Amino acid sequence: MSEKTKAQLLAEELLYKKQSAFETMNEEEMANAYKYADEYAEYLYNSKTEREAVATSIKFLEEKGYIEYKLGDNVVVGGKYYLNNRDKALFAFSVGTENINEGVRICAAHIDSPRLDMKPHPLFENDGFGYLKTHYYGGIRKYQWPTLPLALHGVVTKKNGETVEVNIGEDAGDPIFVVTDLLPHLAREQSKTPLGQAFGGECLNIVIGASPLMEDGKPCECDSKIKLHMMKLLNEKYGIIERDFVTAELCAVPAGKPMDIGLDRVLLGGYGHDDKVCAYPALTALTDKTTDTHTVICVLADKEETGSDGVSGMQCTLLAELIDEIAKALGGNGNVCRSRSMCLSADVNAGYDPNYPEVFEKNNAAIVNCGVVMTKYTGSGGKYSTNDAGAEFVGKIRDMFEEDNVLWQSAEMGKIDIGGGGTVAKYVANHNIDTVDLGVPVLSMHAPFEVISKLDLYETYKAFLSFCK
Ligand code: MN
Ligand code: MN
Repeated sequence: MSEKTKAQLLAEELLYKKQSAFETMNEEEMANAYKYADEYAEYLYNSKTEREAVATSIKFLEEKGYIEYKLGDNVVVGGKYYLNNRDKALFAFSVGTENINEGVRICAAHIDSPRLDMKPHPLFENDGFGYLKTHYYGGIRKYQWPTLPLALHGVVTKKNGETVEVNIGEDAGDPIFVVTDLLPHLAREQSKTPLGQAFGGECLNIVIGASPLMEDGKPCECDSKIKLHMMKLLNEKYGIIERDFVTAELCAVPAGKPMDIGLDRVLLGGYGHDDKVCAYPALTALTDKTTDTHTVICVLADKEETGSDGVSGMQCTLLAELIDEIAKALGGNGNVCRSRSMCLSADVNAGYDPNYPEVFEKNNAAIVNCGVVMTKYTGSGGKYSTNDAGAEFVGKIRDMFEEDNVLWQSAEMGKIDIGGGGTVAKYVANHNIDTVDLGVPVLSMHAPFEVISKLDLYETYKAFLSFCK
C-alpha cells in the first residue's frame, strides 16, 4: 500500500467527513441494532395514539420496577417512578445519587402523531353510504389519506362516566375503513388543481358502511336507515349512543403493522415513527442505563403536532413543577436544579431524500444511515421561533457522544426559506434548561407510512444512553 501524502494526512486531521453506520458499526453492533428495531416495531404497533403509547409505556416501566408517582408524593434516592398525566402524556424518572442541585438529565419526546380525528358529530349518511366526518390532526398532506386501509382507535366516555376503549381494524378478521378517491378517468379536472388544494379537509369522510338497518327482511321504515344501522352496530359492540361521540376521542389511523423495507431489511416503515422512534430510545435508555449517578427524566409528551398547547402538551408547566417537587423532596432547590439541568429534545428530522434533492441543502441535511441527528436550531426563515442551543452546551453533548462512540451528524431541516418546523425544545428551554434537538432522520415524515433506518434508531438509543449515564 502506498503511503499517504502530507496533504492527505492534513485533510484527515483538519477536514470533517461524514461517516455511515456501515463504516463504524461492527457485526455484533449491527445485529444488536436489528434486534432492537424488532422490539421497537412492536412498541410502535401498540402505540398508534398517545393514549396507547402511555399505556404501552407504563406496562413496560412497571415490568422494570417503576412505580406510580403523583405530585406531592415523596421520592427517594434510587427510586424509579412514573407520573401519568391524564393517560395522554407520561414522565418517567429515576432518582440518582448525585446532589439534586447538580441538575437532572431530560430526554423529551412526543407520542402523538398526525391522523384523522372524528368531529363531535361525525356520523352521517349520504346516497347509500354511512360516513364518519373527520377533522385532521397535525400537519398532514391530505392527498395521502384516501384509498388507505384505516383503523379506528380511541375512547368514548359514556353518560355514566365509564370510558370504553375502541379499536377496530387491527385484529385479524376485523373490518377496516377507508376514504375513497376519484378514478383517473374522471379526475381530469381535479388533476389540474394544485396538490395542496385538490383535497379539502371536508373531503376526508370515512366510509364505515353501506347497508340499511333491516326489519322483517326489508330496509326499515326510517329516514336514516344506514346511519341507524351503523349506530346499532356500534351500540352492540361498545354500548354507546350517538350523543356519546361528543365526549369521544376517536381517531382514524393507518391499519396494520410496521414492516421491513427492502431486500436487506435495513429500513423500517410504519405509521407514527414521528415521534415514537425517539420516544422508544428515550424510554429504553432510562431503563437500560447502567449507572445511577444522575437523576434522569424521560418525557413522553402529547400535542406536539398541534403546537404543544393544553394540559398534556409541553407548554404546560408540569415538567417544571415535577422537577421542583423532586428537588424539594430531596432537600434541593428547584430553581437551582433546573438551571443546571440538560435536555435532549428528542424529535425526528427530515432525512435527505434523493428523489427530492431540490428541497435540501445536502451539506447540512440529515443523511439516512449516518447516525442520530443533532439539530442546534430548528424553526424557519431567519431562525424564527427557534431554540438555538449554546455552543458550550452543544460541545458538552458532542464530547459525551464521541467518548461513547455514538455515530452522530448535524443538520438543518431543508433549505432556508423552503419551510421549517419546531419541536418541544423551546418550551423546555423556557424553564431555564439547556436544550438541544436530537433524533432520527425520517423519510416521508408525517405520511401514513414513514421510513427510518434501523441503524439510525440504534445510534439514537446509544446517544440517549450516553447522555443518561
Ligand atoms: Mn416530531
Ligand atoms: Mn411531527
